[in-house]
Amino acid sequence: MAYSNILVAVDLSSESPQILERALELSPDNSQFKHHLYLVHVLEPLALAYGADSSINLHELQQQLESQALIKVTALAKKYSIPLAACHILLGSAAGQIHDFAARKRVDLIVVGSHGRSGLALLLGSTANAVLHGANCDVLAVRVRENQLSSSSVQRS
Ligand code: AMP
Repeated sequence: MAYSNILVAVDLSSESPQILERALELSPDNSQFKHHLYLVHVLEPLALAYGADSSINLHELQQQLESQALIKVTALAKKYSIPLAACHILLGSAAGQIHDFAARKRVDLIVVGSHGRSGLALLLGSTANAVLHGANCDVLAVRVRENQLSSSSVQRS
């Protein structure tokens, strides 16, 4: 069964292209597919992390982070010919936002990165682990390695 709506969650680190490439490999080789792929990055609101009493100008800093994220997402999308309309920067907790977005868009596969460290929690990473456990659809954890790429698991729920 082919997936029709795929959400690729990227933290915008140097690993993100590997994860996106793996998701694109799953797709039929046509540009129409790219309209059914969502590239999603989640920014945590700084006020949540630092609290209202912080002496830093959180509003300004938040805007800077959002601008930087937009630049990075746009560059990634352009490199892989993903339409900008398919790119989403969401505010909140990463796993929660990914789950909500997946439900709204009827996503049937979420693609995240995972690391090859030891132990289950370390292997998946905290965000990937949280995404996996709360998802109502399949989750593909792409094993991220230096200069190497393989998918570690597809879990059907
Ligand atoms: P981590 O659990 O932080 O090691 O991240 C593992 C994977 O979760 C990343 O490779 C991304 O696929 C996804 N992820 C982590 N943080 C975010 C984020 N802020 N926005 C979107 N996806 C994320």
